[in-house]
Amino acid sequence: MKFIGDYHTHSTYSDGRDTIVEMVDAARQKGLGEVAITDHGPRNIGVGVKGPGTFLVIKEEIEKLQDNREDIKILAGAEANIISSAGEIDIPVNIAKELDILLVGLHPYVWPNTFRDGISFVLGNQLSRAVPYLKKKMKNTNTKALVEAMHKYPVAAVTHPGLGMPIELDEVCRACLATDTAWEINTGHNFQTVNEVQKAARKGAKFIVNSDAHFAKTVGALEQGLSLLTHANVDLEQIINIQV
Ligand SMILES: [Zn+2]
Ligand SMILES: [Zn+2]
Repeated sequence: MKFIGDYHTHSTYSDGRDTIVEMVDAARQKGLGEVAITDHGPRNIGVGVKGPGTFLVIKEEIEKLQDNREDIKILAGAEANIISSAGEIDIPVNIAKELDILLVGLHPYVWPNTFRDGISFVLGNQLSRAVPYLKKKMKNTNTKALVEAMHKYPVAAVTHPGLGMPIELDEVCRACLATDTAWEINTGHNFQTVNEVQKAARKGAKFIVNSDAHFAKTVGALEQGLSLLTHANVDLEQIINIQV
């Protein structure tokens, strides 16, 4: 039993500390057959790539690197941000289409799509940390945004579901099934519980275990994810990046 690949890593094009070459070579050393470079979308405040076009530059760099690395498949991807309560993301469709893998995640510090989204979505999530009444409202808003995004774009996986921004697990799981989107087990943040994994598994979720590595040394550090899934008694067939 081994992991086929790590499909969520960041390079120096966003807030990762190591270059694409260093990330890829770390994955090779770990014996992975595939690795995806998925830098943050441009609207992630302070950490995103310069602009959506950067993903095409990254893709070109990966294509060149791929020619010199025969033992690993390198995927050009992105971790897009949701920037509106209607589930819009910060990467235009024409660029998203060029990518090998599109991940989507909810992040609290993003430049919103419109002023209204700034108030209802971004500010709402900030305030909800202190105001209990808003927590429930934002849970609904976040869930709806994530579900809409899955239906609008070809999302391969939802990154760190529920981290810092509450979501309705059942509803997000249903949308994952309807749109063939994986539920990420994120070993970088390592925040998920056996209980919630069990709930998602019972709903029939397909899991993908990713490192969310921002350093070469943590690429492919996926063991904790497997341990969590094993504790939750998840059927190995429900984990898409594991080879039994
Ligand atoms: Zn993220
Ligand atoms: Zn990430």
